[in-house]
Amino acid sequence: MKSHTQYLWFDTKKRQAFINITAQVEEAIKKSGIQEGLCLVNAMHITSSVFINDDESGLHEDFSLWLENLAPFGKDKYKHNLTGEDNADAHLKRTIMGREVVVAVTRGKLDFGPWEQIFYGEFDGQRRKRVLVKIIGD
Ligand code: ZN
Repeated sequence: MKSHTQYLWFDTKKRQAFINITAQVEEAIKKSGIQEGLCLVNAMHITSSVFINDDESGLHEDFSLWLENLAPFGKDKYKHNLTGEDNADAHLKRTIMGREVVVAVTRGKLDFGPWEQIFYGEFDGQRRKRVLVKIIGD
């Protein structure tokens, strides 16, 4: 069995962002030489997510509005922010959007359903943060 580990770095201009990272994950699979196996992609920070969905800008706006309704940004709204932080909303948004995805690798490619793409979801950005890509197989 082979394995390949790689880190992707992000530093978003805005506090919140969704970035399609599918091409970078495909590049990592190519580099690994693995034809049959599994690919794990996970955020390494507790205020950002990795998730799979459609690359459609209206849907991304819907996600943003939905998340803002569930966990609005606001320093005085949350117990976590009594510690001097201001990112309680980002922790909550991350939890609902998920930490990681696992995708099958078949014949050297991500074995997606229709319209599936991998996204990095940032909820407390404007600083360097990373994502782990780990591919195992043969
Ligand atoms: Zn925090």
